[in-house]
Amino acid sequence: MTGELTALPDINVSRLEITRNPKPATPPPSSSLVFGHTFTDHMLTIPWDLLSGWGAPRIQPYGPLALEPSSTVLHYAQTLFEGMKAYRQENGKVTLFRPDMNMKRMNNSARRIALPNFDGDALLELIKELVRIDKHWIPKEPGHSLYIRPTLIGTQKAIGVGPPNEALLFVICSPVGPYYPKGFKPVSLYGTTEYIRAAPGGTGAYKLGVNYAPGVMPQKDAAARGYGQNLWLHGPEHYLTEVGTMNLFVVFKKDNGAFELVTPPLDGMILPGVTRNSVISLARDHAAGKSRLANLPENLVVSERAVTMKEVQEASKSGRLVELFGAGTAVVISPVDRIGYLGEDVHIPTGEDGMGPVSRPLWTELVGRQTGTIPSDWSVTV
Ligand code: PMP
Repeated sequence: MTGELTALPDINVSRLEITRNPKPATPPPSSSLVFGHTFTDHMLTIPWDLLSGWGAPRIQPYGPLALEPSSTVLHYAQTLFEGMKAYRQENGKVTLFRPDMNMKRMNNSARRIALPNFDGDALLELIKELVRIDKHWIPKEPGHSLYIRPTLIGTQKAIGVGPPNEALLFVICSPVGPYYPKGFKPVSLYGTTEYIRAAPGGTGAYKLGVNYAPGVMPQKDAAARGYGQNLWLHGPEHYLTEVGTMNLFVVFKKDNGAFELVTPPLDGMILPGVTRNSVISLARDHAAGKSRLANLPENLVVSERAVTMKEVQEASKSGRLVELFGAGTAVVISPVDRIGYLGEDVHIPTGEDGMGPVSRPLWTELVGRQTGTIPSDWSVTV
C-alpha cells in the first residue's frame, strides 16, 4: 500500500548465521595479556540499511572489515561503542553484569548521532551466543574476564554530513587481566583547566567515539606534568565532572559525623556509567537500611550533586575529605591520592591498601556480584 509506513526488520536472532573460524588461535598465557590487544576467534556483525532495516546477524572469524574510504564513520566520527565484561565463575558458569544497561545506553548513543536503534534484547542474545562460542578465551585466573566491545558505525559511502543510509554493528571480545594485579595503586589527577571533555548540550552523556580522541592530547599533557589522568572540570567554578574515562565519587565527613558520598548529577555532561549506577544503588540501599553492607559506615548519605574544586580543596585542608575515587567497568574502583590544581597539589587520604572506608566495602560487594560469589539479579547467565 503506497504511502503507508511499514516497520523495517529489527535485529532478528533466528536469522543468525554462524561461520566457524577454520584456524582458531590458542589463547595466550594470561600473564602476557595487555588490555585490549588480544581478540578472540570470532566476531558478530549485523548490517543495517535504510531501505531494508537490520540484516541477518553473522558470527564469523575475527578479521578486518571492508570499508569504502568514503564511509561516513571515517570522516565525521559516526561511531559509538559499549564496554562490558563476561566473568567466569569457579563452577565454569559465565555471566554478564547488568548488560541491559549497556544495551539501553547503546541505543541512547545511537539516537544522539542519528544512527539506527535496535532491539537491545535481541542484540544481547547474540552477544551471549558469541561469548558461548569463544568462552574458552575467558582466562581462568581470578580477576580476569572477557571485555566485550559492541560498536556501531555509519558506513554510508558518500562524503556529506547527514544521517547515514547504511550502518554496521559489530561486537569483538578481548580477554583481559585485573586492572590492579598487585593490589590497588592510587592514581594522581591533573585538574585540567585548559581543556574540557563535555559541555552543556554536547555529547558527554553518550558513549560516542567523538568524546575520546580529543582527550588523548590532554592525557599526554597530564602525563608530562607527572599526573596519571585528567580530572575533567567544568565552568568558571571548576565543577568536578569525570576522571579520565571513569565516573567520579568524593566522600566528605559532615559536621554531624556522617559520611557523604557525592557524585555529580547526570546533567548531560556525565556518562551514565553502569558502575556509577551500581555504586549509588548499593550505597542508597545501605543508607536506607534496606540491605546493609558489611564495614560500610552506618551513617552514610548519598548525594547526586555538583561539587567544586573549592569544596574539595577546603575539605582537604580542614580534614573533612575522606576519599575520592573513579568508577568504571575496566577498573571497577580506582582510588585517587592527589589532584594537581592551579599549581599546587590537593592531597587526598588513602588507606593502607589504597582504598578508603567507603570505597573498600563497595568494591567488595560490587566485585562479588560481578564474579558471582555474591548472588544477585545483576548477574546474567550467558
Ligand atoms: N565515563 C566515561 C567517559 C567512560 O568512558 C566510562 C567507561 N564506559 C565511564 C564513565 C564508566 O562507565 P561504566 O561504569 O559503564 O563502565
